[in-house]
Parts: sequence; C-alpha cells; structure tokens
Amino acid sequence: MTLLSVKNITSFYGASQALFDVSLDVREGEVVALMGRNGMGKTTTIRAICRLTPPRAGEIAFAGRDTGRMRPHQVARLGIGLVPEGRRCFPNLTVEENIKAAARPGHWTLATVNTLFPRLADRRNQMAATLSGGEQQMLAIARALATNPKLIILDEATEGLAPVIRQDIWAAVKTLKDEGQSILIVDKTLSELLPIADRCVVLEKGRTVWSGEPQALDADVQERFLGV
Ligand code: ATP
Repeated sequence: MTLLSVKNITSFYGASQALFDVSLDVREGEVVALMGRNGMGKTTTIRAICRLTPPRAGEIAFAGRDTGRMRPHQVARLGIGLVPEGRRCFPNLTVEENIKAAARPGHWTLATVNTLFPRLADRRNQMAATLSGGEQQMLAIARALATNPKLIILDEATEGLAPVIRQDIWAAVKTLKDEGQSILIVDKTLSELLPIADRCVVLEKGRTVWSGEPQALDADVQERFLGV
C-alpha cells in the first residue's frame, strides 16, 4: 500500500523556483533513497512533505489523507517523523527528557530506543547540549522514533560525523528496515545507502529525473546525476 504519495509538486523560495513537478511514492515498509547533488532540491522536497515549506502546486497524500491544508504539526501527528538536516534536540533537557517529550504510544519507547542506541542509554541524564555531534544525531533519530511514526524521514543523518558513529547510525537504519519501518532517506554515502534502499529517486535541478531500483542505478546514471 502507498503510504506517501507526492505528485507533481512545485516549490518556491520567494520568486525562485526550487522544485518543478517532483513526484515520488513510498510504500509501506519500503526504504526510498532521495538522491541528487548539492542544491538539487532534496531538502526542499522533504520540507514540502512535512509542510514546513508548503508546495505551491501539486498533491501530497499521506496514509490516505490529502495533506494540502495541514500545518506541520498535523502532518507529524498523522505519522511522519522528521530527522532534519542539522539535528534538533532541546539542548537544556537531558537525553531521557528529550525522548520522553516526543513519546507517543507504540513499539518505540525509552527502553526500545535505548536498545537501538546503547550510547544514549549511557548518557540518559546528560544534557543534550553536552553530547557529541554524533550522539545528538542519535538523539534526533531516537526522538523521531519515539513518536512512533509510520514514516521516518532522515535528511543527511550521517553527514559530518566520525566514522564509528556513522557505522552505529547505519546499523540502526538497517535494524529499522528489517523491522519493516518505512523510511525516506537522503545521504551522500552511496556505499551504505544503496544496499538498504528498495528504490531510488534522483533529483536534478528540482526535477525528478530518474527513479528505479538501486541495482539499475548504473555508472552512467551515477555520473550524470550524482557526480560519482
Ligand atoms: P544539499 O544536499 O546541499 O542539502 P538539496 O538537494 O537538499 O541540497 P535544497 O536545500 O532543497 O537542495 O535546495 C534546492 C534549491 O533551493 C537550491 O538552489 C537552494 O539554493 C535553494 N534554497 C534552499 N533553501 C533556500 C532558502 N531558504 N531560500 C532561498 N533558496 C533556497
């Protein structure tokens, strides 16, 4: 079943058009990689889905509902958990308070997110502001999971982090996939991303220019659209 349906959306920043007829779907239990070089519109697409920058035209439906008139918190409540670029936590709350503040009923609780990220369990009483960048990223993911989203969106979740932390985050993403979590993910590390993606959608200058299974993302497509 289609969980998220994005059809022909256009988005603007002032007079400047950032998205032109972008379309993509995420089915239940699927991992979809949203790809493209810097500035091609990935974050803008995510912001449109979350209604943080509402699209000017096109249609977005989530869990069978048209989100066209919704506010960002209403889309979140429908079941979209966003881990934005640059991770956002409450700096003056502890790790545990941050997770509890986000919690909604479901599989993901303080206990289960701590199993996914044991480093967070070790730091449960530490203020979020004092965590390393990688630990803050884990906390951002833990907070999104604690809302028990139908879809989690990860925007550059491993960007700029130490290799050992990146490995922990990739391991967590693989666990989520194995548990059937629907995921829309943006990441530049193709060697990690492609093995877990069920499908890829490539953006070029604000347009969807390619979509398909990762096996079909051959050297030519990678060179043309991803600069690999
Ligand atoms: P990156 O990988 O660098 O994050 P991206 O694919 O996520 O890139 P977007 O951030 O969506 O790309 O940017 C798409 C286009 O919109 C770019 O041309 C960018 O300069 C422009 N843009 C993004 N945010 C704004 C903004 N707040 N105001 C004006 N233009 C913006």
